[in-house]
Amino acid sequence: MDQIKVDALRAQPVPTYGHLIDVQFLPASDGGTMDVLSPLDGQVLTQVAKGTVADMKTAIASARAAFEDGRWAGQAPAARKKVLHKWADLIEANALELAVLGVRDNGTDISMAINAEPGSTAGTIRYYAEALDKLYGEIATTPSDILGMIHKEPVGVVGAIIPWNFPLMIGAWKLGPALAMGNSVVLKPAETASLSLIRLAELAHAAGLPPGVVNVVTGEGAVVGEAMGLSMDVDVLVFTGSGGTGRRLMEYSARSNMKRVYLELGGKSPNIVFADAPDLDMAAKVAAAGIFRNAGQVCVAGSRLLVEASIHDDFVAAVVKATEAMRVGDPLSLDTHIGAINSENQLSQNLKFVETAQAEGGAIVTGGSRILQETRGYFMAPTILTGVTPDATLSQKEVFGPVLGVTPFESDDDAIRIANSTVYGLAGAAWTSNLSRAHKMVRAVRTGVMHINTYGGADGTVPLGGVGQSGNGTDKSLHAIEKYVNLKTAWIKL
Ligand code: ADP
Repeated sequence: MDQIKVDALRAQPVPTYGHLIDVQFLPASDGGTMDVLSPLDGQVLTQVAKGTVADMKTAIASARAAFEDGRWAGQAPAARKKVLHKWADLIEANALELAVLGVRDNGTDISMAINAEPGSTAGTIRYYAEALDKLYGEIATTPSDILGMIHKEPVGVVGAIIPWNFPLMIGAWKLGPALAMGNSVVLKPAETASLSLIRLAELAHAAGLPPGVVNVVTGEGAVVGEAMGLSMDVDVLVFTGSGGTGRRLMEYSARSNMKRVYLELGGKSPNIVFADAPDLDMAAKVAAAGIFRNAGQVCVAGSRLLVEASIHDDFVAAVVKATEAMRVGDPLSLDTHIGAINSENQLSQNLKFVETAQAEGGAIVTGGSRILQETRGYFMAPTILTGVTPDATLSQKEVFGPVLGVTPFESDDDAIRIANSTVYGLAGAAWTSNLSRAHKMVRAVRTGVMHINTYGGADGTVPLGGVGQSGNGTDKSLHAIEKYVNLKTAWIKL
């Protein structure tokens, strides 16, 4: 990646986009469009279709028709695998273009985006392409006069509602296993990050994915997202986003066809640092990166720092130092560590959380405010508050921004009690040299993933999913496939 190429791509005008249904770009049925604002400068980047309920119905009908006639599910596994590999090749060949487009739309720094977005997307698609012809059915241990077989069948039409923080990566976590198993997918990107997903679907068609197998409908969650949730013709709904929307999706399901709903929601993930951590300097740097990369707009961000009281002051000083060394600014500069906040609305919510945290006794030790730039983009200084009690708003509610609360603890039991004192259970970490303490933390802290002596970085071979109000079901790994299949029993009398 070099700066000259990035700058050339950032200067390119972005076309306006309609919905991608079958293989055609279609305008909204009422001709409506939405401005796409770039968080880099607050200016209009382009327009996308502002979908209607009718548009969503058209896309779902197209996906249903594609599924029913077997144009994808009916192909030999080796043929589907070939298309998915070709798609991954095209993603890799267009990686920089996809990454820059995504950054202009959502504000992630390009150094992170290039790997996290097209890079990981190609990897995810390949992972499921490789898996798809190796997943056999089962023969059950029936009495000898019976043949009991368990087939894995595609569910049909998958609706996927995607957030704005990592649209390609998270989109691929749904698309990879869903398509590998022969389903059709309708994607609903976030209002503030549609562009790279549209391009991703275009590349799928270029790779040979038949029309209608992936459709993209842009627009407002409350309109087209709701229409997807209420559809009688979507079999499984998969979602990554906020708890409030997740709750609505379950209601939509109950009010319509009781479609299966899988939710990957937020977190308030504890990063627990014991005095016997193997390398406290490293722990401080990783703690800062664990919350502030992508400006804290990461579902697994380590947003609660629990520090053993005996090292509290020194450790906080080290985290502050690491944080202040992170450069916030132009997301398309290769020197930037922390890019923009996705939207003005998100930025003002972040600042409100900081105000509340102060009112509840927290003290800012670094950051705390908006960074004003000539470009009028949405930037915020990475912010750390100490003296944040376990029951404070900042300890209980997800910010989804660059705000870290620090809480001291006295003992293992104290750390576990504080770590488990939220409704969430997505991710966490413990830093210690004591092997038995490490294993104890893995078991005792209620999360989907516990890191030991590191934070983040879990790859596609392991599942990611939450417990409690962080969601259900998992993305990534072979386990994700379970969401996209029905088990069908054949009970055959011999
Ligand atoms: P955030 O607050 O972080 O934007 P959301 O949960 O609102 O998180 O957004 C995640 C995704 O959910 C986006 O694609 C958004 O359009 C969609 N969404 C928002 N509201 C609804 C809704 N009422 N029904 C269906 N989808 C929705």
